[in-house]
Amino acid sequence: MRPTILIKDAAYEACRVYKLSPPFKTDQFLVALQEERELYIEMQPQLMPDGTFGLCVAESKTQYVIFYHSLSSLLHREATIWHELGHIFFDHVTPRRNRFRLKAGYDPQRALSVFHDTAEDYEAELFARTMLRYALGYNTPDYDRSLAARQRDPQRESQLKHFFDELAS
Ligand SMILES: [Zn+2]
Repeated sequence: MRPTILIKDAAYEACRVYKLSPPFKTDQFLVALQEERELYIEMQPQLMPDGTFGLCVAESKTQYVIFYHSLSSLLHREATIWHELGHIFFDHVTPRRNRFRLKAGYDPQRALSVFHDTAEDYEAELFARTMLRYALGYNTPDYDRSLAARQRDPQRESQLKHFFDELAS
């Protein structure tokens, strides 16, 4: 597992390379990551079993799908996407590592047994928190996802609503 400081540094360095300074939106990072790595990341809302909020699958070396729970809150959905982007960013997900084949679409029950590597989830989650905090321009030592979810921010929620409406259309 990478040390905490390296994960944070990698996240900040990516923003520097992608010329993103806070505040920026999730989709700006998404576009930059796709361009730099020459890959395509599709977003799929999906009903998921309890306790699962997201999943990332590599369909090929250049094609990824991020599934996010379609009924979670907008803020939670965004945090989920950052977490899954962390898995892509750190190359945790490759077609060889999917460990199951996507045949007739997505099977949440089978997917539950996939990607439960603690070290990789730690990296992805720390990446997500670092990026959320940075993207929002929060100057606090650690972004608290649950606190942010409780604080209502109508302007930010309407931005996110727009983002997820676009993804769904
Ligand atoms: Zn994960």
